[in-house]
Amino acid sequence: MVSRIIPVEDFDLVIFGGTGDLARRKILPGLYRRFFAGQMPDEARIIGAARSDMDQMGFREMVREAIFEFADKKYQDNKKIDRFLDHIDYVAIDARGEAGWEALKGKMRADVVKAYYFSVAPSLFGDLAKRLQSFGIADDKARIVVEKPFGRDLETARQLNKDLAAYFDETQIYRIDHYLGKETVQNLMAVRFGNILFEPLWNSQYIDHIQITVAETVGVGGRGEYYDKSGAMRDMVQNHLMQLLCLIAMEPPNKFEPDAVRDEKLKVIRALQPVPAHHIVRGQYDATADEPSYREDAGDPRSRTECFVALRAEIANWRWSGIPFYLRTGKKLRARGSEIAVVFKEAPHSIFGPQDAKSPNVLVIRLQPDEGMTLQVTIKEPGPGGMRLVDVPLDMSFAEALGDEVEDVPDAYERLIMDVIRGNQTLFMRGDEVEAAWAWTDPLIQGWIERHDVPKPYDAYSDGPDDSAMMLHREHRRWREIR
Ligand code: NAP
Repeated sequence: MVSRIIPVEDFDLVIFGGTGDLARRKILPGLYRRFFAGQMPDEARIIGAARSDMDQMGFREMVREAIFEFADKKYQDNKKIDRFLDHIDYVAIDARGEAGWEALKGKMRADVVKAYYFSVAPSLFGDLAKRLQSFGIADDKARIVVEKPFGRDLETARQLNKDLAAYFDETQIYRIDHYLGKETVQNLMAVRFGNILFEPLWNSQYIDHIQITVAETVGVGGRGEYYDKSGAMRDMVQNHLMQLLCLIAMEPPNKFEPDAVRDEKLKVIRALQPVPAHHIVRGQYDATADEPSYREDAGDPRSRTECFVALRAEIANWRWSGIPFYLRTGKKLRARGSEIAVVFKEAPHSIFGPQDAKSPNVLVIRLQPDEGMTLQVTIKEPGPGGMRLVDVPLDMSFAEALGDEVEDVPDAYERLIMDVIRGNQTLFMRGDEVEAAWAWTDPLIQGWIERHDVPKPYDAYSDGPDDSAMMLHREHRRWREIR
C-alpha cells in the first residue's frame, strides 16, 4: 500500500505554553514526525511562546531534548532534527501583560495560515484571545486551538465560549479532544458509513447493548491534588467517553463535513436521559503493600472525588430506545485498554440446539493498545464429530493489516494539528456540543454532592468496585474483561 502524504499549506504555528509538559511530550515531537514524513512546507514556522526568558537557540535545544525524550528511536536522527529546528523560533511573552506581543507580531507573516495553540491553563484563554485581536494578528487566516479541560461545569464552559466568541468566530475555534484524532475512531465512522454491512444492524432491534471502556493502570500519582479537583466524570466521561458515545450512536450525517457531523453528535447528547443514582458507581483505589491509596495520592484523607466511574446511559430516540450504553473509566485498573464493544443480540432461534448455543456476535473497536477491530463470530469447530460450534475472532489489527505503513500513521495530536492547518473542524468539538455535554453531566455531579455520596473503595489493579459488576449482573450482562 502506498502511503500518501499530502503537504499542508504554508503556516505559522504559535504554541502558547511552548515550554510546558504537553508541548514537550506531544505537540513538538508530533510536529517533528510530520516534518519527518514530509508533510511540513519548507517555509512553515513553529514559534514557542511562554514567559520563560529564553532565546531561539535555547528553545531549539529544548525541542531537541523533547524529541530525544518522547519521539520513537527511529526518528532520533540529529541531521533531520537540525533541519526541523530551522523551522523553530521562540518569543518570551506574557498572556496577561503587554510583554512580548510586539515581538510576536513582528514574527507573524501576512497571507499564511496562523494557528495559535493555547497549551496553557484555561484561565489564560480569554487573555490570549483578546491580545491576539488587539495586536492585530488574528486575521481571517487565524485559528485558535484550545485544550481540555473546557470548563468544569456548564457555567464555566459557557463563560469560556463567550470569552473566545468575543474575539473569534466559531469557525476559527478548534476545541481538541485527542480521542477524536485516533485512527480507530475515524475508522469507526468508515466502518459504519462506508459499508452497507453494519448500518442495517445498528439499532435496538439487533444490538443488545454497548460498552465503552477507558481503563488505565496508572494512579493519579504526583498529580493527585490537581486531579482531586476534577475526578473521572469531569476528566474523562464528559469529554472522551461522551465523544465516543456520540460517534457510535449518531445518525449518518449527509456529508462527512464538520457541521453535518457535529449536528448529529449534538442530537445524541441532547437525547441522553438523566441517569438515576443506582445506575452510577463511583470508586477510589485502595492502597497496596507498596503504593498509596487514591486518598493518600490526593492528599486528602476524606476526599470524595472519584477516580473510577461506571454508568448506564440511555438515548431516547427511535434507533436506541431501551438499549443500555455502559460507560466506565478508572485509574489503577487491571490492565490499560480503551475499547468500544457493540454486543449484538442472540440469534432468534438456534437450529443447532441449546447445548451448542454460543456467545452473541460482538464488534470490538480497540483504541489502545494495538488499534484495530475484531468481530466475534460463531463457526463450526473444524474436524469430525458432528456440528460443534465455536466462537472465533475475525481480527483486524491495523499494525498487521497495514504492515510498515502503520508506522507512518500520525498519532492523534499530529493528525489534529494538521487538520487545524487544513481548516478542517470535523474532529473538533463545537461550543454547543461541549455545553450540552456539561448540561448532561452537571446534574449527576450535583446529585453526588447533595446525597453526600462517598465513592466505593476498590482493590488497586482490579476491575473497579464490585458494584460496577453488579450493575450489569442485575441485567444479566457482564463487562468485557479488561485485558
Ligand atoms: P504546564 O506544563 O504547566 O505548562 C504551562 C505552560 O504555560 C508553560 O509553558 C508556561 O510557561 C506557560 N505559561 C504559564 N503562564 C503563562 C502566562 N501568563 N503567559 C504565557 N505563558 C504562560 O501545563 P501542560 O501540562 O503543558 O498543560 C497545558 C494545557 O494543556 C492545560 O490547559 C492542560 O489542562 C492541558 N492538557 C495537558 C495535558 C498533558 O498531558 N500535559 C493533556 C491534556 C490537556 P512559563 O511558566 O514559562 O510562562
